[in-house]
Amino acid sequence: MKRKGLWILFIIGLVWLSSMPALAEVKVVTTFSVLADLAAQVGGDLVVVESIIPPGSDPHHWEPTPREARMIAGADVVFCNGLGLDVWLDRLIANAAAKVPVITLSDGLQALSYQHQSNHDHLHDNGDSDPHMWLDVAYAMDYVKRIAEVYSQIDTANAAYYQSRAESYLQQLRELDNWLLEVVAQIPEDNRKIITYHNSFSYFAQRYGLSVEAYLVLNPDREPSVKDMMQLTQLLAAHPRRVMFIEPQASTGGRYAEAAVYEVGGRIYTLYTDTLTEAVPNYIEMMRWNGNTLLEALK
Ligand SMILES: [Zn+2]
Repeated sequence: MKRKGLWILFIIGLVWLSSMPALAEVKVVTTFSVLADLAAQVGGDLVVVESIIPPGSDPHHWEPTPREARMIAGADVVFCNGLGLDVWLDRLIANAAAKVPVITLSDGLQALSYQHQSNHDHLHDNGDSDPHMWLDVAYAMDYVKRIAEVYSQIDTANAAYYQSRAESYLQQLRELDNWLLEVVAQIPEDNRKIITYHNSFSYFAQRYGLSVEAYLVLNPDREPSVKDMMQLTQLLAAHPRRVMFIEPQASTGGRYAEAAVYEVGGRIYTLYTDTLTEAVPNYIEMMRWNGNTLLEALK
């Protein structure tokens, strides 16, 4: 009886193996989950994509371990964001002595600086540009085009496949971009101001016509000072909807935001920026969540 059970398991295993698609050809590593989704959308069945930083974690700080060195060593290409967000990757590549090509997706795109912001003392590692370009869908489309080019060079035989997948995904992103523009147009002009914990919305705000009224900290794991908190409470009290937006990966921030919002009788909403989660398993759903949340909070 026991034996028979094992045989059945064995046969089920064989059937399962034979039903799997042909082995993917390109092994892709990205620094965080948003890039992993873009890379997977373009690569389809011909790539296997892994994210160094797992969904739900903060990409600003990461202490690489031997697990990541192994991922890099086995990869055909690595996609990172650049602009100081995933600067820890350099050390990882050097340590792994890997010859893998590293593609920085923000390269060649016009970065926005953090200027005109008040609490300017803790910058991302490489200076003063906001790295969160992907929150403007037009920039995400540039990332996608670059990813398709890179795949076509690495796996020339399947270039047409990557180009056609990129085209249909870009069409979905165009629709998403238009939808976000329409969403913000429904918000009264005086309310198009956002108060956030972590300053990640320069590109989003510029593209969709919002202004970032204030943020507490530039980097999500820094704690605000008493003065920061007082300024925040005043701004919240003056905001037409008294709402503040936090991001789930900035866990230190939640407490401070809650305290300030409680004091003015306002409300907290969650926006997703740096990581995918179960609630927002891909980039398009992440941006749709953000659009719907902004509308609910500010209309
Ligand atoms: Zn960030």
